[in-house]
Amino acid sequence: MKRIAILGFSLESNAFAPPCKRWDFEQRGYYRGAEITELARKEPSPLYNGIRGFYAVMDEKYGVDGWEPVPVTHAASQPAGPVEEGFFNELLAEFEAGLKAAGTLDGVYIAEHGGATATHTHDPDGEVFALVRRCVGPAVAVVASLDLHCNISEVMMDSADILIGYRENPHVDIYERGAEAATLMDEMLTTGVKPTAYRVRLPLVAPSVTQLTAEGHPYGDLIRLGQTKLDDRVMNISIVSGFAFADTPKNGMTVIVTTRNDPEHAKALAIELAKAGWAEHERYQTNMMALDAAVAKAKAVGADAVLPSLLFADPADNPGGGGRGNTTYILKAFLEAGVHGAVFAVFYDPALVEQAQAAGEGGTFRARMNTQETANYSDPLEWDARVVRLHDGEFVGRHGMVAGKSVSLGDTAILALDGITLIVITKRQQCLSTDFIEELGLDVVGARSIVVKSRGHFRAGFQHLFPPERIIEVDVPGLTSPNLANFDWKGLPRPVYPLDPETTWTPPV
Ligand SMILES: [Zn+2]
Repeated sequence: MKRIAILGFSLESNAFAPPCKRWDFEQRGYYRGAEITELARKEPSPLYNGIRGFYAVMDEKYGVDGWEPVPVTHAASQPAGPVEEGFFNELLAEFEAGLKAAGTLDGVYIAEHGGATATHTHDPDGEVFALVRRCVGPAVAVVASLDLHCNISEVMMDSADILIGYRENPHVDIYERGAEAATLMDEMLTTGVKPTAYRVRLPLVAPSVTQLTAEGHPYGDLIRLGQTKLDDRVMNISIVSGFAFADTPKNGMTVIVTTRNDPEHAKALAIELAKAGWAEHERYQTNMMALDAAVAKAKAVGADAVLPSLLFADPADNPGGGGRGNTTYILKAFLEAGVHGAVFAVFYDPALVEQAQAAGEGGTFRARMNTQETANYSDPLEWDARVVRLHDGEFVGRHGMVAGKSVSLGDTAILALDGITLIVITKRQQCLSTDFIEELGLDVVGARSIVVKSRGHFRAGFQHLFPPERIIEVDVPGLTSPNLANFDWKGLPRPVYPLDPETTWTPPV
C-alpha cells in the first residue's frame, strides 16, 4: 500500500509588511495529523484546495482504504510580512518530527505557496524542501504544488522531483494542481519514471495587476503556449510569474519544464518558452485610474441609476499580497465627495468592530478607523456611522475562489457612513466574491459601486456581474502598489524589467 506524507508551509511574504508569527497561521489554517485527512475528504472544507485535490485522485485510484496518507502538518497564513525565525524553526522541527515518525514512505506531497521570506533568510521554502529531502532520502518521490506567485530557488529545484505551479490567476485551479501532483506522483511510483527538470529565470518582475491569465493578457498567452508543448516526453510545464514584494534575489518569471527522463528536451523547451516570454515583456504594463477620476465615476453612477454599476479595485492595499486591508484613501475621497450607493468590501479593523458592537445594531457612533494599526499607509479616519447589522462572518462561498469553501471573516460589522456601506471584519483577508457582500444580507446587484481591496482574485468571484470593462483599478498608495517604482528594493536581482526599462536578457547556451 502506498504511503504518502502530506505537509506544507503556505505564506506569501511582503518585505514591506510587518513580520508574521504563529498567531497568523493559527488564525488562517494550522492543521495537523488526522485532522488534515478528515478535512481533505469533507465538503465544504476550510483546508487548502490542493490537498483536497490530491486526496481525491488517490482515493479515486486506490479507494479510501487502498493507500495510506500520512498527514503531518499544513500551516497557512494570510499573506503578510516575513515569517519570524523562531516560529519558522519550530515549524521545521514539527515537519521533521512528523517525517521521522512516519516510517517508510513512498512519497511526500508538499502543498506550498513558495512566495515566503523569513526574518533570517530569503528562502524559507527552500529550507522546507531541503528538510523533506534530507529526512526521506533520495529514493522517495517528492512532488510539490506551488502558487504561481512563488519565487523558485536552486534548493527547491534540487530537493523536489516535480514542481507544479498554478496556471490560473485568479487561482481557480488549485484543486486541479493538487490533483495533478497526485497523478504525476502516482506515475513515478507505478512506472519508476525519473523526472528531469530544467528551469530558466527571466529578469522580469511584472507588476501584480499585469499577471492575469485571461485571454488577451501576456502571462495567460505564455502559459497557454506552454500547455501546447505537453506530449509523451513532458510531464509538466509551469511558468510562475513570482511575487515582486518578496524582494529576493530569486525573483523573476520562471519557466520550469519537467520531462520523463529527457533532460535535453527539458532544457530546450524551457529556453524556447523563456524566449517567447521575453519577446513579450513590454506588454506587462499597468493601466490604473487616478483617484480623482475614479471618484468622479463613482459619483456619476451613484447619482444616476440608469448607468451600469462599477467595481473599483484597490490593488495597493491587497491583503492577498500582504496589505493590511485598511487604508482609507478611496474611502475618504468617496466620503468627502458625497458618493452614494457604494459598498466597501471588506475593511479590516477589529477595534472598529468593537466600537460597533458597543453601539449595537441600529446604534450611531463616531467611527474611528485604524486606532490600533501601526503599518505604513493605514492612516486614521473618523466619520459618523450607524450600525446596520452585526454578523458572525461565517458562510460558505458560491463564487470564484471560495466556491464550496467555508469562509470566516471573524466578527463583522456593517456600517452606514452617509451614502456608503462599509463592511468591517476582524480576520484580515481580501474580498474574493459577491458572497462577501450577499451572505451578510446586503444587495450586490443594487449597489451603484463596489470597492474591493484586492489585486485580481476578486475577478473570478464577481465575473457573473462585472465584465472586465466595468472594473477599474485605482492608483492609490499602499504596501502592494503595482507602481513598483514606489518601493525601496533591496533584494531584487538588478537590472530587472520594468523597474529598469533597458534590461536585456541573453538565453542560456
Ligand atoms: Zn497567488
